[in-house]
Amino acid sequence: MRKSIVAIVGRPNVGKSTIFNRLVGDRISIVEDTPGVTRDRIYAEAEWLNTTFNLIDTGGIELGDEPLLVQMRAQAQVAIDEADVIVFMVNGRDGITGADEEVAKILFKSNKPVVLAVNKVDNPEMREDIYEFYSLGFGEPYPISGTHGLGLGDMLDAVVEHFPEREIEEVDDDIIRFSLIGRPNVGKSSLVNSLLGQERVIVSEIAGTTRDAIDTPFSKDDRDFIIIDTAGMRKRGKVYESTEKYSIMRALKAIERSDVVLSLIDAETGIQEQDKKIAGYAHEAGKAVIIVVNKWDTVESNEKAMKEFEDDVRSNFRFLDYAPIAFLSAKTKKRTHTLLPKVIEASENHARRVQTNILNEVIMDALAMNPAPSIKGQKLKIFYATQVAVKPPAFVVFVNEPELMHFTYERFLENRIREAFGFEGTPIKIIARKRS
Ligand code: GDP
Ligand code: GDP
Repeated sequence: MRKSIVAIVGRPNVGKSTIFNRLVGDRISIVEDTPGVTRDRIYAEAEWLNTTFNLIDTGGIELGDEPLLVQMRAQAQVAIDEADVIVFMVNGRDGITGADEEVAKILFKSNKPVVLAVNKVDNPEMREDIYEFYSLGFGEPYPISGTHGLGLGDMLDAVVEHFPEREIEEVDDDIIRFSLIGRPNVGKSSLVNSLLGQERVIVSEIAGTTRDAIDTPFSKDDRDFIIIDTAGMRKRGKVYESTEKYSIMRALKAIERSDVVLSLIDAETGIQEQDKKIAGYAHEAGKAVIIVVNKWDTVESNEKAMKEFEDDVRSNFRFLDYAPIAFLSAKTKKRTHTLLPKVIEASENHARRVQTNILNEVIMDALAMNPAPSIKGQKLKIFYATQVAVKPPAFVVFVNEPELMHFTYERFLENRIREAFGFEGTPIKIIARKRS
């Protein structure tokens, strides 16, 4: 089921980022070694009254040196295109400014639900002064204070009320959903075309569950797939679509709906920081990942070059050590046939459930072979392990004291589990829990 999307828009300095950070809070978890997790993230999960939704801080979408007005228009447009509900934020201390009116005009035309939030209303006396904001035409203004965390509950009630009724999406488990992510120009569209061109038994391009995503189903060797569209596929020519943050946002949306994510790298330009960041999002989301080195036709291809590039990938993407690497050329179609078998395998591993008794044998053997080192004179005891989830596979290990499970030991157990069951292509999670 797709989560609702809420966007915060407004001119600079009204407090958008402050509110964003407050609502998202510690959900921007810092995962060691994962470059995807950055504080400048503009898209994150938030929760209110048992409803989780995705929040966009459009203030993070910047268009280089463009004038303020152009920037604001683009930001409002992103909100209109992407969000189910828009929070229009103004500053209660400034009153209505010309820039607010500009934003209001654009939002007004969009017919999207808008909740008007008047920020920096830091004390109750100031609530008297917000009535002028009625004239913006979005109904009742909600006074809030980002600094003090006031009024956010009422504002969120109003936001959640506008969420569309959700139909339960029918998920057919036999269909493998995958998406392609990567920097602009790594060859995402070309690879999609080459995959569909070869294997085309296309029913039709059907509109996906979201108005802005196109899901393309196809079959190959009796397996059914759906390619989930990303930004690269249809270049709609809007000014903001070339911005890095926008492309990341689109990638995140595609990742969320995928089982398997193909993270593309351009062999011609080599690995760049942004590649790691983008791949990090797929890892963080717990999706199966395949690293695709595209444009392999531009590299003098021999065993040695491939080995060198592989080493380079491995040392740059340590957090993706489980991900297989495919070298191919979307342009010449060379080796593109190697891709779908990898997608199938990764998807099966992502959904794999192992037998509890065998799991426990593996863990106990591992323990016997390499007992956990003592921490401050205390020794980790493992009683029992069980798989609690799939997509990705997650294992709870019941222990005497979770703090004694050092991450290096967790890593060791993960490797033993991988060796025993073969989880290529998928992250797995190990959670130490105290036996009660
Ligand atoms: P953005 O440009 O809209 O993202 O605004 P920021 O979140 O960066 O905030 C701009 C400035 O306003 C910062 O100095 C914040 O500390 C301040 N600010 C944000 N929320 C409040 C608030 O509720 N009350 C007051 N007094 N200041 C605030
Ligand atoms: P996207 O922005 O990631 O969707 O990238 P495109 O598919 O639009 O490709 C960007 C450019 O790279 C285009 O000029 C493609 O022709 C070129 N390109 C894509 N795949 C390959 C490839 O395998 N080899 C070479 N040499 N060029 C490629």
